Amino acid sequence: MTFPSRLPDTGLRIDGACRPAADGATFTTVDPATEERITVVAAGGEADIDAAVASARHQFENGAWSRMGGAERGRVLVRAADLIEADLENLAALEALEVGKPYGDTLHGDLPHAVETFRSFAGWADKVFGTTSTLADPTGRERLSYTVREPAGVVGAITPWNNPALIAAWKLAPALAAGCTVVLKPPEDASLSTLRLADLLTEAGLPPGTLNVVPGLGPVAGAALAGHPGVDKLTFTGSPAVGHQIPTAAGHNFRRVTLELGGKSPQLIFPDADLDEILPTVAMGFFLHSGQVCAAGTRIIAHRSVVDAVVDGLTSRAKEVRIGNPFEPDTTMGPLINARQRDRVARYIELGRAEGATLVTGGEFPERPGFFVTPTVFRGTNELTIAREEIFGPVATVIGFDTDEQAVALANDTTYGLSAMLWTSDLARAHRMAARLRVGTVWINGWGIPDQRLPWGGRGASGVGRELGLAGIEANTVEKTVSVLL
Ligand code: NAD
Repeated sequence: MTFPSRLPDTGLRIDGACRPAADGATFTTVDPATEERITVVAAGGEADIDAAVASARHQFENGAWSRMGGAERGRVLVRAADLIEADLENLAALEALEVGKPYGDTLHGDLPHAVETFRSFAGWADKVFGTTSTLADPTGRERLSYTVREPAGVVGAITPWNNPALIAAWKLAPALAAGCTVVLKPPEDASLSTLRLADLLTEAGLPPGTLNVVPGLGPVAGAALAGHPGVDKLTFTGSPAVGHQIPTAAGHNFRRVTLELGGKSPQLIFPDADLDEILPTVAMGFFLHSGQVCAAGTRIIAHRSVVDAVVDGLTSRAKEVRIGNPFEPDTTMGPLINARQRDRVARYIELGRAEGATLVTGGEFPERPGFFVTPTVFRGTNELTIAREEIFGPVATVIGFDTDEQAVALANDTTYGLSAMLWTSDLARAHRMAARLRVGTVWINGWGIPDQRLPWGGRGASGVGRELGLAGIEANTVEKTVSVLL
């Protein structure tokens, strides 16, 4: 465990330089475990977003990155991965400090995934190919056609605070591998690890202006980036409430948009599942990072014959959770991100009680500095507000079902569609169920951080489009057809 020894410079990163906001504005970032001030960060405004987009545009058009050979771009990304890996303890400490996630979770979980995301997309950089075909022309002659995938251009990226460095990596690695230039607006609650990441990418050899990072407030810097006419592709990860405004702002300029939004993921537990084996992961599915995970499995839909055992097992797990400062080695759960989020979770817990759900365990807010809440399990129905809306806290509702048909109907009865977990030892049932779930990802007998080699994204209120894997390259390129009459 290491507390960060040095904070990164807290200025904007524009055109390869670090500078204050044009109007000198700043905002304060707070340690959610102590409520103490960490530092002040430059708050970019419209003029700064303009400058960052102009720099990214200039860099894109001059071709130093966009027309660099793919293999060479890949080498820069490999170097970036190596530098991030060498800085892992420092980055993990920055994230633990500003996000409140236990240091060990970020050191061994999110950040190694960020490293692998850069390595994985480094391998794609020289494999961005199109297709070829020879087709009969209406005149009877043959036409040879081929497609090329060109970088989409200037990418605007907006990220949330819950896993800032990893989600930044999910946006940067595919965009940079494809040859795009980027303007990134990190979350105001947690900008530091993204600023450090940007410095490491610059050190790895990105030409100035290829990556610009403009910290700032959502309605100011975020809105300016989302609506900027100089952005060719916008990728946003955050809440549906804000995501809802993005296509309007971005669609106005006919640009491409990827939205990665919230979730209310079901965990379906069938009677043939080995409860002793699965319950630790089922519990982790909504305890991890105090439930501040888009894919958290907060609707636990268990077969009536095992539902009591599931509730008992989750209650025992909840009582084992050690709440505390993320830098203490025995802490297994840190705080929520801020007072607003703590109050929101409190409101949902009250609402659960008021609507008639049974509070089985948790629902307490320890009297100490920091925005802490105990892991909370309700028994209830899928109609409750706590089972319908994303809470973004360690709160789950256990719901019973009798038939497989009912389980699918309950799982799909949501506006969200990010992910689902299936717990069963019957392989045929697992695949039958997986085929019927209206989600972007189904995990069978496991759960974890999305794999950078596979597509990731949601349906319905969980978002539009895919990032990661080949889909991540496709999302950052445009296909052009070239046709020649032979
Ligand atoms: P948020 O929507 O409040 O903020 C996300 C980002 O948008 C921040 O950088 C914020 O500054 C910016 N923003 C705020 N208002 C804006 C505006 N008007 N215009 C443009 N940008 C604006 O979300 P959050 O609270 O930071 O993150 C939590 C949410 O993110 C949850 O809903 C969670 O499920 C979701 N999330 C989704 C995924 C995924 O992969 N699908 C991953 C992580 C988090």
